[in-house]
Amino acid sequence: MDLPIFQYHPDPIATGSIKNSDAVCECCGTTRGFVYTGPVYAEEELHECICPWCIFDGSAHKKFDATFVDLDGIGGYGSWESVSSDIAEEIAFRTPGFSGWQQERWWTHCEDAAVFLGPVGAEEAKILGEEFIGFIRQESGLEGISSWEDYLSILSKTDGPTAYAFKCKHFGKLGGYSDCH
Ligand SMILES: [Zn+2]
Ligand SMILES: [Zn+2]
Repeated sequence: MDLPIFQYHPDPIATGSIKNSDAVCECCGTTRGFVYTGPVYAEEELHECICPWCIFDGSAHKKFDATFVDLDGIGGYGSWESVSSDIAEEIAFRTPGFSGWQQERWWTHCEDAAVFLGPVGAEEAKILGEEFIGFIRQESGLEGISSWEDYLSILSKTDGPTAYAFKCKHFGKLGGYSDCH
């Protein structure tokens, strides 16, 4: 069965937020072959036990009052553009989140949430190019070329510091941020 299409997180298997699993979904009670691995904010402990379909159709949000991205993190706790509550709720309630080292932030642009492309290390940042690198440099607040270049060179998808790449849905502009342990 094909995964549902999350417009703000189109390839959650590639980003590591959804993986193959025989786990029984706590929400629909069935084994769907895939499970969500990212953060779940809910009363109950819901680690790796929600299927992508129950995120997509809002049933996991309804049943457990669960969110997958912190609402205030959409727009980076006020550092980026704010979005309408419809958009924020689609991200927080019906879109797979991702696991960062610190509280996750969801980049916004053109009055919309951006599309999450995934965690990024030095190699992937180079492939994304100057626009992305320039953006995360600005976000990092690091002063001076040498401290920035050292930081950029040790970016890693798995160890941290890690960058998180997003793409604006409207004109394709790349953005995001980075964090570390
Ligand atoms: Zn389910
Ligand atoms: Zn834009």
